[in-house]
Amino acid sequence: MTLRNRLHDVEARLEQACLRSGRQRGDVRIIAVTKYVSVATAEAAVREGITHIGENRWPDAKAKWDALQGQALFHYIGSLQTNKVKDVVGKFDYIHSLDRMSLAEAIQGRAEKLDIQVPCLLQVNVSGEESKHGLAPEQVRSFLADLRKMNRIRPIGLMTMAPYESEPHATRPVFRALRALRDELNCMELTDEPITELSMGMSNDFEIAVEEGATMVRLGTVLVGKEEIGEG
Ligand SMILES: *Cc1c(COP(=O)(O)O)cnc(C)c1O
Repeated sequence: MTLRNRLHDVEARLEQACLRSGRQRGDVRIIAVTKYVSVATAEAAVREGITHIGENRWPDAKAKWDALQGQALFHYIGSLQTNKVKDVVGKFDYIHSLDRMSLAEAIQGRAEKLDIQVPCLLQVNVSGEESKHGLAPEQVRSFLADLRKMNRIRPIGLMTMAPYESEPHATRPVFRALRALRDELNCMELTDEPITELSMGMSNDFEIAVEEGATMVRLGTVLVGKEEIGEG
């Protein structure tokens, strides 16, 4: 399939998922995850109308950021080491993987230096799989309370990764739980503004995530494909 066909196909599937769940297509943002593809493919995706790019490692993302900064917004979706914060903060428009206080402190420090605010999503390990990063759901409340001290971090949402399931419907409880957690947290008024974003859903399960309230879907393989790009 060509890139254009894949984009059309994903768009049609997204629209159907919105229809099924009574949602507006405009409430779901596509983040094209370009970690498996070349700079040229990422550029082609932007020419086809993609405006949000997701990457999970700075060394791989650098060439794409250099080529496409100003033409797309960048989302950092991978686990972030504290010593990489200086590379990422100021370049990426969103960080989806805030999962510990030491990282929050590093982001706050860097953002102060640059005199910017950093929109962040808290990564939550809803499924409890040991291999996955993220706060336990019961830790999120106190984490958000602690973030109040950090005036450069703007908590705008929650992010999760569901376990890979051969039957995508099996992921539904994970997405439903993340939405319920967001709604509970908003009732507690721990943040100046309500947290609105739910970053959930990948190639295998994005339709289920949209049905359960995703506002950002992170799509790699199904959208831009997967290429042998040599290094990485
Ligand atoms: C790679 C990656 C994705 C995209 O994966 P696909 O299954 O190819 O859509 C989404 N989110 C995160 C955090 C990733 O690392």
